[in-house]
Amino acid sequence: MDPLSPVADVLIIGGSHAGLSAALTLYRALHTTIIFDDHKPRNWYPSSVHLMPTWEHQSPDKLREASKAELQDSGLCTFVDATVQRAERLSNELFQVADANNSLWIGRKILVTTGMKDIFPDLGGYTENYPQRMSVTHPFHLIVLFSALFSFHDLLPSFS
Ligand SMILES: Cc1cc2nc3c(=O)[nH]c(=O)nc-3n(C[C@H](O)[C@H](O)[C@H](O)COP(=O)(O)OP(=O)(O)OC[C@H]3O[C@@H](n4cnc5c(N)ncnc54)[C@H](O)[C@@H]3O)c2cc1C
Repeated sequence: MDPLSPVADVLIIGGSHAGLSAALTLYRALHTTIIFDDHKPRNWYPSSVHLMPTWEHQSPDKLREASKAELQDSGLCTFVDATVQRAERLSNELFQVADANNSLWIGRKILVTTGMKDIFPDLGGYTENYPQRMSVTHPFHLIVLFSALFSFHDLLPSFS
């Protein structure tokens, strides 16, 4: 880190939905942030956003890009596209973070928003087919399906 660079209020490790939301909250209170991200979000799979008002069926990357643009416009958020490899507390109560490019960054607080990693069962084809070729069936749907089949049983062709 350039020794003349100002100390950030908060170093945010992880720049997906949680990290971006935190940066938004912080800049509205006029805090400066540095957001580190190595672009491996949990929803990297080819699936669209659901249940997020105004973003239905759009790509999660598009949502992140829009959020990032808004944060950059504030002038209070800095983005670093790199993996954080080490974080430590310094003797002067500040925190120092080292990224994969051997750059050092200093802040008053650290916020960890690194998300979760999916660990799939050891089943052939599971990883390759997740999530596009999988669907979750609620027990209620099965009850409706079986009720319908029994109701129309008399109408089904007989193979006996
Ligand atoms: C297939 C799928 C579909 C989904 N669909 C929806 C949906 O429609 N609606 C919904 O509300 N939710 C959905 N989710 C859930 C949603 O994706 C997660 O809740 C959300 O991504 C969690 O955000 P996050 O910021 O906590 O973590 P993540 O999105 O996992 O982001 C963590 C970020 O931290 C970065 N990171 C980690 N370690 C480091 C490090 N050391 N240095 C730098 N960066 C680091 C990662 O690269 C990543 O970018 C879906 C999830 C999946 C898997």
